[in-house]
Amino acid sequence: MTKNASIVPILLPIPAERAYSYRADVDLQLRPGDIVQVPLGPRQVAAVVWDGESDNVDAKKLRDVTRKFNCPPIRPELRKFIEWIAQYTLSPPGQVLRMILRVPAAFDPEKPTEAWRYKGPPPERMTAARKRVIELATEILDADAPPMAWTRPGLAHAAGVSTSVVNGLIKLDVFEQVMIPAPPAVESPDPEHSGTKLNPEQVEAADQLHTIMGENKFNAALLDGVTGSGKTEVYFEAIADAIRQNRQVLIMLPEIALTTTFLERFEQRFGALPGEWHSGMNPKRREKIWRQIASGDVQVVAGARSSLFLPFKDLGLIIVDEEHDSAYKQEDRVFYNARDMAVVRASINNIPVILASATPSIESRVNAERGRYKHIILSARHGGAVLPELHAIDMRKNPPPRGSFLSPVLTKAMARNLERGEQSLLFLNRRGYAPLTLCRVCGHRFQCKNCTAWLVEHRFRGTLQCHHCGHSERQPESCPSCGTLDHLVACGPGIERLAEETDKLFPDARIILLSSDMMGGVTRLRLELETIAKGEADIVIGTQLVAKGHNFPLMTLVGVVDADIGLNNADPRAAERTFQLLSQVTGRAGRAGGKSLGLLQTYQPDHPVIKAIASGDSDAFIAREIIAREQAGLPPFGRLAGIIISGTDRREAENHARAYRNAAPNHPEIMVLGPAEAPMALVRSRFRFRILVQASRQTDLQEFLRQWTARAPKTRGNIRVQIDIDPQSFL
Ligand code: ADP
Ligand code: ZN
Repeated sequence: MTKNASIVPILLPIPAERAYSYRADVDLQLRPGDIVQVPLGPRQVAAVVWDGESDNVDAKKLRDVTRKFNCPPIRPELRKFIEWIAQYTLSPPGQVLRMILRVPAAFDPEKPTEAWRYKGPPPERMTAARKRVIELATEILDADAPPMAWTRPGLAHAAGVSTSVVNGLIKLDVFEQVMIPAPPAVESPDPEHSGTKLNPEQVEAADQLHTIMGENKFNAALLDGVTGSGKTEVYFEAIADAIRQNRQVLIMLPEIALTTTFLERFEQRFGALPGEWHSGMNPKRREKIWRQIASGDVQVVAGARSSLFLPFKDLGLIIVDEEHDSAYKQEDRVFYNARDMAVVRASINNIPVILASATPSIESRVNAERGRYKHIILSARHGGAVLPELHAIDMRKNPPPRGSFLSPVLTKAMARNLERGEQSLLFLNRRGYAPLTLCRVCGHRFQCKNCTAWLVEHRFRGTLQCHHCGHSERQPESCPSCGTLDHLVACGPGIERLAEETDKLFPDARIILLSSDMMGGVTRLRLELETIAKGEADIVIGTQLVAKGHNFPLMTLVGVVDADIGLNNADPRAAERTFQLLSQVTGRAGRAGGKSLGLLQTYQPDHPVIKAIASGDSDAFIAREIIAREQAGLPPFGRLAGIIISGTDRREAENHARAYRNAAPNHPEIMVLGPAEAPMALVRSRFRFRILVQASRQTDLQEFLRQWTARAPKTRGNIRVQIDIDPQSFL
């Protein structure tokens, strides 16, 4: 080795358990956290100089670091966070790092923007348009500075001329080119822009948050308030504190692509938009935001779960809105729950984290009860708005007419609402026209060939679709099994079918259909949501997409078409989930005051969840649910891990699952169940088996799993083993 090179450990964004050694020129002055480019096989990849010692590698095999990016380093807290998640989720640290280095183009400094400054002389041929442009471009704003430099479109727009006029002048050499720094991604938020006058209960809640913010250390608070109580207004106060302290804020939202109203409210309060971060953004925008978060120029970020992995320069506060939402769980590569990991990141950064929800998860409630989290409660809606009056409709006593799905009790209420010019929402968590199609003659059912799932009819598109793998086929006219023509029937309702029924019942009503697979994507959805908020729709029919966070002031009736969906599956959280969803969706009604109504169509009016919702006595239900969890040793009183073994050959997958199970160590406080065929036995042509591991709270579940994996048979062929700590899904 030459004198001017050293060996450095470098973590690559690949599923490697540890950092690799590279040789680096000392002139590069590499330090842990620096983002570098290194060769990996035939490729060049971005990677990070890691902490710790480098391995002893044969000097001849060492390869050189190609270059160091001119980019702020990955901070020690974020490196620690990566290690922590890797340990906890049993993922290779490189796999976690990959979630941070997703925007390679952001590691090089932003290119300055090309701009044009007037230098004269004026062109010989002068037109009115040219005159306007030159007047603007020669305007003296600051006597000591040269005239301002403009971008081509900026100047054309300001002068009210087409870009070709500006281009023409540039060709005539009237302007000189200068480079100006790239504009900021978003303006700076102003904490004093326009405060809201909080009601007394909100003031009390905000004061508790001010105290936490003033302490400048790790603290977790559960902001628990009914829908419409002003949780957003209250946590805006904590955000204002963080901005005053000149620190950065991360606001996590489960459905960021749809939160136009949230962004607007933020802008109203702080006079500027937050930086947005989600998968729907274009790559250029992502690069800019990533870069400016790292440099500290973007102060507040509102994002989906992946925003947890952004390289903040000085993070001062994390907010997790709708903390109970299962969209925070990622079940792909690294299985993690962004809500839980947000608490971990806050603890590593030693900063406060606020979890907000109208229906907090049992986990967070127990943490609050035990004093691990501060419990901040908002008990009433703001401005005297009352929660909707809730009733169960017993479908056995008030059945819908043949071939329809809405009980007369519900349709009467909808008719009354229409007469009064008020909005109604029909909620059904089923996309498409019908969840199942069968042949009336031979009983053939249309099933996905890749998945354990019925094909869902999408009548508007004329297709049958699988909602698990995306498989889609044209709706046939004859049965593929017996060949009979025109005897296929749709079974059960999806929202398209409800729209058809509603349209027949109320031909004059303005109906809007909302689901995530609508044509037109996010842009269209945002427009539709605005239309509803403005009162330009009478009846909204939607999936769980409409249940989340939207504020529809004119909505006074919510009809839940099938309140029983989800109650009867084997998921230990089924009752809690249904309870949360039904509370959220009925909470869409009556937000602007006045009387409002929530009607739940059910065949099980005596089910504890339905009774809890209908009676409004949710506390008793939750208390019982907590006791039941404790008795069964389920989270948060015990710990769970799921192990999913899958393969394209059923026998091989099953054999591997058995062999895997047999390698499990013995532990007095850990129970290993299975393997059993997964309820979703086939997904994307892979056969799936599940093992469930249940441990007491005290045990080191990860250590147990690590010992187990070390003893387990190696995977061969296309067999895949996925470990899911704290599983949310049991399918
Ligand atoms: P939550 O987040 O708890 O559902 P929001 O913060 O969205 O509640 O508040 C519900 C509605 O009430 C919003 O339209 C909000 O602007 C309004 N609101 C809440 N608190 C106040 C207040 N103190 N003054 C004026 N409007 C308020
Ligand atoms: Zn499928």
